[in-house]
This record gives sequence, structure tokens and C-alpha cells, in this order.
Amino acid sequence: MTALPRIQLLSPQLANQIAAGEVVERPASVAKELLENSLDAGATRIDVDVEQGGVKLLRVRDDGCGIAEQDLALSLARHATSKILSLDDLEGVDSLGFRGEALASISSVSRLTLTSRTADADKAWQVFAEGRDMQAQVQPAAHPKGTTVEMRDLFFNTPARRKFLRAEKTEFDHLQEVIKRLALARFDVTFNLRHNGKSVLALQAAHDEASMARRVGQVCAAGFLEQALPIDIERNGLRLWGWVGLPTFSRSQADLQYFYVNRRMVRDKLVAHAIRQAYRDVLYNGRHPVFVLFMEVDPHAVDVNVHPTKHEVRFRDSRMVHDFLYGTLHRALADVRPEQQMPPAA
Ligand code: ADP
Ligand code: MG
Repeated sequence: MTALPRIQLLSPQLANQIAAGEVVERPASVAKELLENSLDAGATRIDVDVEQGGVKLLRVRDDGCGIAEQDLALSLARHATSKILSLDDLEGVDSLGFRGEALASISSVSRLTLTSRTADADKAWQVFAEGRDMQAQVQPAAHPKGTTVEMRDLFFNTPARRKFLRAEKTEFDHLQEVIKRLALARFDVTFNLRHNGKSVLALQAAHDEASMARRVGQVCAAGFLEQALPIDIERNGLRLWGWVGLPTFSRSQADLQYFYVNRRMVRDKLVAHAIRQAYRDVLYNGRHPVFVLFMEVDPHAVDVNVHPTKHEVRFRDSRMVHDFLYGTLHRALADVRPEQQMPPAA
């Protein structure tokens, strides 16, 4: 007879590493968490420095509110968050994070240094955590108001996870995509991205239509705006604005498609279907349209918190949303299919 197995509590570090399996898949997922934290902190400028696709180094520096000295070590603990206090807060939460999982998870599978300074502090403070040895020793440091999170050697202590990482370029492409998606959600914030010492993206904060359009061009592809129709339609409490590419600017992959609901990027079957239908008779089979579209809806008519790491969304009146999207885009594209509109010449 085998001995009855004993029940034991997981150590906090092991619990964090297991949780990290959900949050931290690759450098891009770390970047998403760190940038969302910067945005939640009210940053107006975010600088991202990457080495070797983000596996060797991912450094995110912001000018947000910072973290107070006495909270610095706690911010690395699991279930530590400044964003909600009660279940009631969850109802109206408008921050990107609130689960208090990200920093704990990331620090359990990498070497993490957190340096921060609040507006009213006379100096900055720093903590360091490396894998299982949590060194939550707070030390003085030099840093302007804001926060820098430096993550090194992702998965150095979890070789099984490291094996799933792809080539440097692939990891970097994913990471860059995360920044592009957030940059289109937040025109008011400056984003800079450097890879192996070279500037890859330099997106200045954009406050007027011309500079917003310029950012869209930088994010999508050169020439997109010249071959795109601007859209801005409001109906039944729904607003849709942005740019839809002409059929002449279509792609062989669906890789330049950005759709936001209340400034959150979503990937949704209903939305995808409405757009596909609208383009149906102007695009050849196998071609994919390019678009950057923002839908604004009454927040009560939509649930965007379906799952924090997925891009799902749930509309209260999905039929109406589908018809609005299809109708608006179909009409906008009408001008580019004159041969189907006009009677054949006599
Ligand atoms: P969550 O974002 O879900 O609250 P995180 O683990 O991502 O959890 O972060 C924990 C806490 O650390 C946050 O609630 C916030 O108070 C603080 N924090 C993290 N990053 C930053 C930052 N860049 N600027 C200011 N505070 C931050
Ligand atoms: Mg967070």
C-alpha cells in the first residue's frame, strides 16, 4: 500500500510561477502588462527598451504617478493592487489592470528591478526580485518622477517555458504589435520603442486630427492613409470613426486590422463578420482589408471585462451593432464599386 499523500500549501513563489503560466507567455505578454500599468499610472510618455526580442531585457520607463517607498515591495506580491478595494469597485473599474497578478508573476520567472519615485518624494526607491529569491529590499536610487520596470532573463529559472520561445525576430514582432495596439488606443501618450539600441517606433503624442492620422500611418504602413477612407458616423448611440483601407490596399494576411470598443482593442467574431460582409463584393477571395476603427458605445451596453487576457467583448444588442457596422462600412465602400451601382453605359 502506498502512503496517503499529504496535503501541503504551495509556497508563494511556486504559486506565482504557476499563475505566471497564464499571464506570462512570452516577452510580448510581459510588455502588455507593464505598459498597461504605465497607462493606469497616468503616464504621458512611455519608453520601451528591448534586447534580444525582450528575452534578455525589457525595460519600460514611464512618467506616471510612481509608487511610494512603503508600497514598493508590496507591489511585487500577489493580489496586491491599488486599483480596487471591494467587489463593488469591480463594477466600475476603468483601469486596465486590477487583479494584482502581473508583477508577482513576472518577477517569479525573471530578474526584475522596479525603480520608482512619486511626485512628492525627494528621492526614488528601488526593489529587486530574482526568481525564487524574493529580495524585497528597498534601496534608494536615482530616477525622475515615474517608474522604470526592468525585466531581464525571462524564464531563466523555468527552462520548460523558455523552450517555447521563438526566434528573436518573432518575439520582437509580437512585442511591437502590443505597443502598436496600445498606441492606437492612446493617441495622447508618447511611445518610443528601441530594439538592440536602434529606434523602431517613435510616436509623438497626438492631439489633433492630422497628428492622429500621422500615427495611424506610422503604425499601419506607409501609404495606408492615401488609400483609406476616413469614417465618422453616429447613429442610435453608437459612433464609428477611423479609417478603412480601399480594396487596392488589401493584404494577403489579416495582420493590419485594428478595432477598438471604447478604446480597448477587441477581436470579436461578430465585428469580424460585419466587416467581412461589408467588403465582400469589393475584395477578391483570400484578400484581407486594412482598417483602424474605433467604436464608441454606452459602457452599460457592452462588457469588455469578459476575460482580462483575451480581447473578447459582449454587446447587449449584438444585432444592432452588427447592422450598424455592416451598414456604415458598406455605404462607405459604395463609392469604390461604381460598376455595380451605375447602369451599364448605353
Ligand atoms: P494590477 O495592475 O492588476 O493592480 P500589477 O501586478 O500589474 O497589478 O501591479 C501591482 C500594483 O503596482 C498596481 O496596482 C500599482 O499600484 C503598482 N504599479 C505597477 N506598475 C506601476 C507603474 N508603472 N506606475 C505606478 N504604479 C505601478
Ligand atoms: Mg497591472
